[in-house]
Amino acid sequence: MIDFGFHITPSGTLNLDDVDQKTVDTLSRADYGFRTCIACGSCTASCPAGVFSETSVRQAILSVLNGKDEKALRLLSSCMLCGKCLMVCPRGINTRHLILSLQKQFEG
Ligand code: SF4
Ligand code: SF4
Repeated sequence: MIDFGFHITPSGTLNLDDVDQKTVDTLSRADYGFRTCIACGSCTASCPAGVFSETSVRQAILSVLNGKDEKALRLLSSCMLCGKCLMVCPRGINTRHLILSLQKQFEG
């Protein structure tokens, strides 16, 4: 193929049929916030750890729903469990509990 000097961006398409729904179901039973989050981003915007790291509850929840469990854990590895995100969530999600549930599920 002729190299025109540009490339098509690889597709970011997800096939949700490939996502392990058992993990999503287990986590949703532990904390229903995985189902009720509307991905508004208020938690991420208020997070003090997000200033110096990639910490993001919003992205972590989306990663779980998309079957990217390792990414979800990585996104919360610098969380200090301060609870600030809990106070701003418009859905009333207990984000600290959600974070701990996720870490317990994958880190034992
Ligand atoms: S603030 Fe609540 S609803 Fe908004 S993204 Fe965070 S967890 Fe989801
Ligand atoms: S509990 Fe964790 S994710 Fe939530 S605001 Fe505090 S450091 Fe950020």
